[in-house]
Amino acid sequence: MKKMRRTLSLFNTLTRRVEPVLPVTEGRISLYTCGPTVYNYAHIGNLRTFLFQDLLKRTFQAAGHQVEHCMNITDVEDKIIRDSQGGLAADTSNEDRHTAMKALTERFTAIFLEDLDALGILRADHLPKATDFVPQMIRLIQDLKAKGLAYVRDGSVYYRIAGFPQYGCLAHLDREGMQVGASVDADEYERDSVTDFVLWKATKPGEPRWDSPWGPGRPGWHIECSAMGMELLGERMDIHSGGVDLIFPHHENEMAQSEGCLGHRWVNHWVHGEFLMVEGQKMAKSLGNFFTLRDLMAKGVDPITLRYAIQSNHYRKVLNFSFEGLRAAENALKRIRAFRVRMEGEGQAGGGPWKASLEPTVRLEQAREVFWAAMADDLNTPEALAAVFMLITYLNAQDDHVALTREERDAVLAFLDETDAIFAAWPHQTSGLDGKVEALIEARRAAKAARNWPEADRVRDQLKALGIVLEDRKDGTTGWRRG
Ligand SMILES: [Zn+2]
Repeated sequence: MKKMRRTLSLFNTLTRRVEPVLPVTEGRISLYTCGPTVYNYAHIGNLRTFLFQDLLKRTFQAAGHQVEHCMNITDVEDKIIRDSQGGLAADTSNEDRHTAMKALTERFTAIFLEDLDALGILRADHLPKATDFVPQMIRLIQDLKAKGLAYVRDGSVYYRIAGFPQYGCLAHLDREGMQVGASVDADEYERDSVTDFVLWKATKPGEPRWDSPWGPGRPGWHIECSAMGMELLGERMDIHSGGVDLIFPHHENEMAQSEGCLGHRWVNHWVHGEFLMVEGQKMAKSLGNFFTLRDLMAKGVDPITLRYAIQSNHYRKVLNFSFEGLRAAENALKRIRAFRVRMEGEGQAGGGPWKASLEPTVRLEQAREVFWAAMADDLNTPEALAAVFMLITYLNAQDDHVALTREERDAVLAFLDETDAIFAAWPHQTSGLDGKVEALIEARRAAKAARNWPEADRVRDQLKALGIVLEDRKDGTTGWRRG
């Protein structure tokens, strides 16, 4: 069966408007996402960005597009050098310096990929390491120099932003206030010090180095993504994405490098995800509210619950992460999973007065339409999920009174599969005791809501027979344990 292809719209940081994504090649989206700098564990703020990009990618796939995804691994950078070279003697050979750097970055690359797997994040088609693309970076810098957009000083090469009139248009900088002409060597700096930035850094004592036409040195951070993106995804890409902290200077500089070299637009859509706060505060090690995925898993948090807690919020809103939010996510997932189990089974309607306002299949089509309209409108996950939950409430009530047919149940299951292809949080096949228990708890909740006390007691006995003890909580939800 040929899938219908849907057009999706995303907020474009460049134009500050929600615009339809019209791919350069029909049916194929090229997506570049700035990957991790691998010298430490990713924290949940970093992971929020990767989860939003996974949602973006899966939504395009579920909407019938092919996605070619490139995520780079930054394995040479200021902080990596600081952390990998510190303990080495001054006369350490260049080869040994590279080996020490590799040992650190390979360790944290493996840890990073494990985190992505645990969170259900799909692997990118290309996962290039910056150190494998140094010749391409050197060629790009030579090109910029030939075009008058780069100059050499003391063995380092800098980008001449005065030569690129569009500089500042992505971050919407005020060009009047720019102090053009100064130059910086650091990879990261604030937007009030807009300056010529470094493309190639002359080697300093204690650093691993590569040979170049300008003497020994290493690439700057920004040139890495331009070189890898153009090499692997070509001269025009559909979507380039990162967290909002990457808009300036990183993406502004990437754009200046690539478009300065190509002489035309490089990226059609720049898409950025917002920050994450923890319990209303900025996450900081000093505040004790700094979490990696492993920290949360050690506290018993299921990574898929974290995935859902993050993805159920809109990616362009600051997310306030909290443990209460995780519990709410857990309850929401239980509700969907229990509904799934119920639909897998056969209906056992209790009868009683019920007047369906809509046929189940009509109600289902409505939900599907609202779901896709919300997702197509800048990935509005809160609205899309609200459509799923309203459907569940309606069909649970209907099924309590007039059981859905097998065909109707299968159509509902297909919709749950369709939505889970994006959220990856309610498995396609529910099996085992947990699913059964959740379904029974949901049945008991429905019975209580309908004041059908004999039915509620019957379900409680059924659970007891399975060795399950129910715990009704103050907030109205029900937990359970094996008795
Ligand atoms: Zn980048």
